[in-house]
Amino acid sequence: ETAALIARRQALLGPAYRLFYEKPLHLVRGEGAWLYDAAGEAYLDGYNNVTSVGHCHPKVVAAIAAQAGVLATHTRYLHAGVLDYAERLLATLPTGIGQMMFTCTGSEANDLAVRIARAFTGGTGIIVTETAYHGVTQAVAEFSPSLGPAVDLGVHVRTVPAPDSYREADVAGAFTASVEAAIADLTRHGIRPALFICDGIFASDGVFDGPAGFLQGAVAAIRAAGGLYIADEVQSGFGRTGDAMWGFQRHGVTPDIVTMGKPMGNGYPVAGVALRPEVVAEFGRKARYFNTFGGNAVAVAAATAVLDVIEGEGLVANARDVGAHLRDGLRGLADRHPCIGDVRGAGLFIGVEIVSDRAAKTPDPARTAAIVNGLRAERVLISACAKGANVLKIRPPLIFTREQADLLVARLDRVLGGLGA
Ligand code: PMP
Repeated sequence: ETAALIARRQALLGPAYRLFYEKPLHLVRGEGAWLYDAAGEAYLDGYNNVTSVGHCHPKVVAAIAAQAGVLATHTRYLHAGVLDYAERLLATLPTGIGQMMFTCTGSEANDLAVRIARAFTGGTGIIVTETAYHGVTQAVAEFSPSLGPAVDLGVHVRTVPAPDSYREADVAGAFTASVEAAIADLTRHGIRPALFICDGIFASDGVFDGPAGFLQGAVAAIRAAGGLYIADEVQSGFGRTGDAMWGFQRHGVTPDIVTMGKPMGNGYPVAGVALRPEVVAEFGRKARYFNTFGGNAVAVAAATAVLDVIEGEGLVANARDVGAHLRDGLRGLADRHPCIGDVRGAGLFIGVEIVSDRAAKTPDPARTAAIVNGLRAERVLISACAKGANVLKIRPPLIFTREQADLLVARLDRVLGGLGA
């Protein structure tokens, strides 16, 4: 049956899509921290980055159903729900970030953020970390003249190495120096820097959470060069890091623009851009923004219910507590399994670096892939990331319990034992 689905998918959706796992999963249902396949097998979800308050949380499901049964329409009518939500969300962000624009995906949010930053700074230089992921759009705005003067999308990208706390003794110093060098290189080529964008925990670069505060130098450098700091909170936002609602907060920095998405609607597509009003003023003078579904009534009903659950169930504190417990368990495994080079992360966003030689810290992507697929066979879902494709990315829903963390550790122990030294 799974084989037939794969064949149909290839025939109908074409060649550009990839599925997770060598042996793809056919999921039919989710509940809490568990996903169920067509055969009724239960999988512990350690991959979670969307349904963050738990699969099919009844309060979110009820809010979506209730609103869909009353009014679901175009976003160009007045609707109070989107304003109530914006007010509540902005209250979780630093003072000064006072406006909110809604999109449906994280890609759209980053796309819009870049257009706004370019209008504000007049610059075209963009600085990102070298294994970052920020989305898929290719600014269609360039060929939508009705939106205002054509935007020239010719941006100039400079990449900087990830803040590798495993290999770098002075993470803050090294990272600041890299960003400063990228700015200097742009300037030397006559390109004005527009922005530095990163996510709060360097999700694709290998999960680098610390030391807390290491972003301050890079942010100061981009500001001094006239550019903006954009915090991509698509993965690290909404309590995931266990310190606070937003991943950047652990670094004591205040972004000019914050982009968000994924867990915002717990599976219902809703995303957005929060920003300082003065940053968007120039963009607002020159252009207009319109997004048919962005911030629609059903989306904000879902998003409001997600905030209710995060607050009502104390999920930020739970992420902190269970995340620390899970990291302790993983560090315990490192005593017996020499392939574990480093265990790091914040809250329920954890990275485990897999190496073939601990002293040399040599990435072991083959073993990492074997672990991810081995865990799938043990019915635990996680993924891998980093430049060397050798970091296990463990990201359970924020409702994860200590018992579920212990189960994940026990099954990982079994997989590592099975792979041998
Ligand atoms: N930013 C980050 C950090 C992401 O992880 C992603 C999605 N993986 C995006 C942006 C893009 O979001 P979307 O897929 O909703 O467009």
